[in-house]
Amino acid sequence: MTQGDTMTMPSSAQYRTIVVGAGPAGILAAIHAAHTGPVLLVDQRSLPRSKSCGGMLHELAIEALRPYGQVPESIVVSPRTVWFRYHDWDRGIRKVTDVRFLNVSRSGFDEWLLGLLPARVEVQARATLTALSQSAEGVSATIRTADGEHVVAADVLIGADGARSQVRRCLGLRDSASYVTIQDFVRLRGPLEPYFDCIYMRCIGEDLAYSYVIPKGDVAVIGSVFHPHTKRAHEKQGRIVEEMRARLPQLGGREDRESAPALYLRSPADILPGHGRVLLAGEAGGFMSPSSGEGISYALRTGRDAGLAAAGEPSQALARYLASTTRMRADLARRFRWLPFMESRAGKCLAGFVPAPIVSKVTQGL
Ligand SMILES: Cc1cc2nc3c(=O)[nH]c(=O)nc-3n(C[C@H](O)[C@H](O)[C@H](O)COP(=O)(O)OP(=O)(O)OC[C@H]3O[C@@H](n4cnc5c(N)ncnc54)[C@H](O)[C@@H]3O)c2cc1C
Repeated sequence: MTQGDTMTMPSSAQYRTIVVGAGPAGILAAIHAAHTGPVLLVDQRSLPRSKSCGGMLHELAIEALRPYGQVPESIVVSPRTVWFRYHDWDRGIRKVTDVRFLNVSRSGFDEWLLGLLPARVEVQARATLTALSQSAEGVSATIRTADGEHVVAADVLIGADGARSQVRRCLGLRDSASYVTIQDFVRLRGPLEPYFDCIYMRCIGEDLAYSYVIPKGDVAVIGSVFHPHTKRAHEKQGRIVEEMRARLPQLGGREDRESAPALYLRSPADILPGHGRVLLAGEAGGFMSPSSGEGISYALRTGRDAGLAAAGEPSQALARYLASTTRMRADLARRFRWLPFMESRAGKCLAGFVPAPIVSKVTQGL
């Protein structure tokens, strides 16, 4: 990897592949695309970055990471394994599932991924893709850095630039709406049980999709996911945290708060693998669980597939990417069919009555 936090412009005007976004999708795409030629990986932020996230690694994510090495122990936090637990707050019902996650520091995870990049990948931090055009021969991207605007060409471009993807917008493709998410980090006065508690709370009203609590070393993350266009989300998050403190005395004072958009996926039409010589991976392509918000395993798998597709004959890249993501897209289409019911009051209410093994099985499929 050529590290680019100090560089202010790309070193060349022509690359085999340009990757936009240095999250899990972009990094895996760059690793594989680099097998057939030089790659430019740009990210609008400083690197290593800090991304708002629960840091829950699903088993599918761990499996997708296996070819690149063991997740380092230094980024795993306590409790090491947490189980997903559905929690109907107002009725005091809790259902433990056998869906489990490895509990990691998200910033540590992103930094470890960056370190996997090979030398053929030139990394340009604080570089924003602002525009792109394409022809039958290739793609031309405009990248803004501290130095000004630079036009860079490539055979293929991979957009891995997350929920508010500029690449997707440049292609004129349907833009997806976003949830408003807020995470508070609070100090722990005592240990919490090793659960990723997903909480359904009626008292906040219809704007709240769900909240969650995750123990992370000596702090806990209290997160909330609000439907698009929610007004006064920060005030509502304050009430949620107070509600939780009243029942969980281990939750102490707030240390930090962060807010970020997350994809609000409604239908198979929200999944867009790309157009022409441009492929979309991870959240940029609409790849994530529409119900649970689990996105890292999708980003890793589609990033890898986009990189492999870009490494072959450029004119066939999209066709190859479509073929390799067929199963995932079919699986997501199945999940969309269940989404309206799962999110309805009736669906959430019913989850409180059905036996835990069934909740567990349904959760596996989400
Ligand atoms: C609050 C919250 C909690 C979450 N918790 C979990 C969890 O516990 N487990 C899980 O599996 N998933 C979780 N997710 C989802 C997960 O974080 C994402 O699905 C995953 O990071 C997506 O990876 P990505 O590579 O597609 O995009 P991202 O990780 O979003 O990376 C996109 C990158 O593109 C860059 N970028 C954007 N626009 C441009 C541009 N124009 N030019 C250059 N660079 C650009 C950004 O700076 C960013 O670094 C959570 C999401 C949120 C919001």
